[in-house]
Amino acid sequence: MDLERVPMDLDGYVRRVRSGRCFICAIVAGGSEDPHDVVFDDGEHIAFLSRYPTVYGYVLVSPYRHVEHIVRDLGEEEYLQLQAVVYRVARAVEAVVPSERTYVLSLGSQQGNAHVHWHVVPLPPGTPYERQQFHALMAEHGVLALSTEQSRQLAARIRSALGSQ
Ligand SMILES: [Zn+2]
Repeated sequence: MDLERVPMDLDGYVRRVRSGRCFICAIVAGGSEDPHDVVFDDGEHIAFLSRYPTVYGYVLVSPYRHVEHIVRDLGEEEYLQLQAVVYRVARAVEAVVPSERTYVLSLGSQQGNAHVHWHVVPLPPGTPYERQQFHALMAEHGVLALSTEQSRQLAARIRSALGSQ
């Protein structure tokens, strides 16, 4: 999928994440986000397409429970269960989206996007070296403007790949 990165309204985004209610709890509650973008849901974990993808196939994975610290708020078993979901989702993304490698990391902040979430990020093959790693993740360098239909199709393909594991 050859999509250009376009500038995003970073100031508006920062205002929303720092003042609005938890966007992941909203998705779990079936709230503000498009339910068609959910790719995995086992009743304890949820995975969904990033709303601000810097690469095609960018997925976030979260526990249902609103926890904020990736290790100190999770028991070892709960942490490993979350990692098992991250693994399955990443395998499905790799099956659907060509990638040079897959980045997996937990970011977020106590000041915004506090609910624990893992980023699963398929680096497009041939990405110039200077645009890999953190450059590839930063919305400051633009985000992909996927149409609703493009997002739905991508989510459906990832769901299908997860179903056939
Ligand atoms: Zn939350």
